[in-house]
Amino acid sequence: DMTTIAFIGLGNMGGGMAANLAKAGHDVAAFDISQAALETAVGNGCRAAESGADAVKGAEAVVTMLPAGKHVKAVYTDDVFDNAEPGTLLLDCSTIDVDTAREVAEEAGTKGFLMVDAPVSGGIAAANGGTLTFMVGGPDNAFARAEPILEAMGKAVIHAGESGAGQAAKICNNMLLGATMIATCETFNLARRLGLDLQTFYDISSKASGQSWSMTSYCPVPGIGPQSPADNDYEGGFAAPLMLKDLKLAMEAADSVDARTPMGAKARALYEQYVAHGGDKKDFSGIIAFLEHGESR
Ligand code: NAD
Repeated sequence: DMTTIAFIGLGNMGGGMAANLAKAGHDVAAFDISQAALETAVGNGCRAAESGADAVKGAEAVVTMLPAGKHVKAVYTDDVFDNAEPGTLLLDCSTIDVDTAREVAEEAGTKGFLMVDAPVSGGIAAANGGTLTFMVGGPDNAFARAEPILEAMGKAVIHAGESGAGQAAKICNNMLLGATMIATCETFNLARRLGLDLQTFYDISSKASGQSWSMTSYCPVPGIGPQSPADNDYEGGFAAPLMLKDLKLAMEAADSVDARTPMGAKARALYEQYVAHGGDKKDFSGIIAFLEHGESR
């Protein structure tokens, strides 16, 4: 079914996502404060709106893909709530803090909108290729309407629970990923110093109890395991500053519910140091070199 969709936030991720909605036959009214991003979206089959408010007028659904909670709050408060028709489905795909996600969803509910938080797993390539995984928080009736729209941009759409549950699932997953990546990196560094051949160690550990996604799907050692950013000088992939962002959100969330997450806290501290010492433009697995030289126990 063709749906009229407003898409706000056409950056690294949103650009490809909006293009995939247009490609699926939807009528996409796109807006970004960046004129260049807007022009690219028009080249990809979207129509340009003059403002966020203009984009949401007459839309049946609104998708946002913005940097952080403060942008999400501002766009919904200033552009969406006063200009979209009540009943419009609102989908925020940004990665933001759980509290802001719940606050905005609650306000949406009181104003007569259906809203989901639907953050993604997968980077720019998955956004462009339409192979994102969406973790969705919101009531059943909102999820049911959101699912076909999200399917046009992804390979998997999973209902995580009530409002905020998508964000919670996302930051829990990425806290685990950050911690296992660091553990995998320092283990390879130790194995090398102990004189182990790293391919041999990989062959053993990938079939033993130390195996994880960080090892066998995204190995941080060049030349070992499947192709990964390690084979491309740690370019591309999942940028270390974005991992740091997610770890900060995870620690904020942990504080808010008084959860003890010492490994998450350590991962956050190490990514902070890595980003400050050369990791700011690198893939998050590049922390292997920083761990080898940059941090003592
Ligand atoms: P980005 O900075 O490239 O894009 C954000 C866009 O929002 C920019 O083009 C910006 O101009 C626009 N914007 C900001 N305020 C606006 C406003 N008021 N009105 C209209 N447009 C506005 O960021 P990104 O890499 O596309 O990431 C977007 C979100 O997705 C973030 O929350 C990020 O954490 C998350 N995410 C990113 C990746 C990734 O690999 N890049 C992966 C998973 C999740």
